[in-house]
Amino acid sequence: MSADTVKDNHVVEINYTLKDGEGQLIDSSDQAGGPMVYIHGHENILPKLESELAGKSVGDSFKLELKAEDAYGEYHDQMVQTIPKTEFPDVDKIQVGMQFQVQTESGEPIPVMVKEIQSESIVLDGNHPLAGLDLKFDVEVASIRVATEDEISHGHLHAHGESCGH
Ligand code: ZN
Repeated sequence: MSADTVKDNHVVEINYTLKDGEGQLIDSSDQAGGPMVYIHGHENILPKLESELAGKSVGDSFKLELKAEDAYGEYHDQMVQTIPKTEFPDVDKIQVGMQFQVQTESGEPIPVMVKEIQSESIVLDGNHPLAGLDLKFDVEVASIRVATEDEISHGHLHAHGESCGH
């Protein structure tokens, strides 16, 4: 089976530069130490980015600008919570930027980041780190191959052939 273009169940490597709406660099494949790799058609990446990649060939490049609502969503102040330090078991080890899982009222686990440490309490932010930002992508397709059966059944890639245990 040839894999000339990006389509469902192809594993795609992309070189990218990601900037915010003001043109500040957020991330790039150079910074990350290599291209980003994903399996097309499994919503592993932003839907608008995925649909822009469909049909592209190796060497094709494009720019994509997304409003926050089409990227990681608006920033919600109500997802920022101030919790008393007494509720944390290892409070001395907590640092700004650390990430945790917490349970919402409905029992769902969500990732939160330590935003601020105050004298009596800790401020946790449940927003995605890129919430509220317009994003500008510069993307180049670096390689395309057909996914393996295992990758297709899992719908994601396993780093360096490791099993993900599910
Ligand atoms: Zn897996």
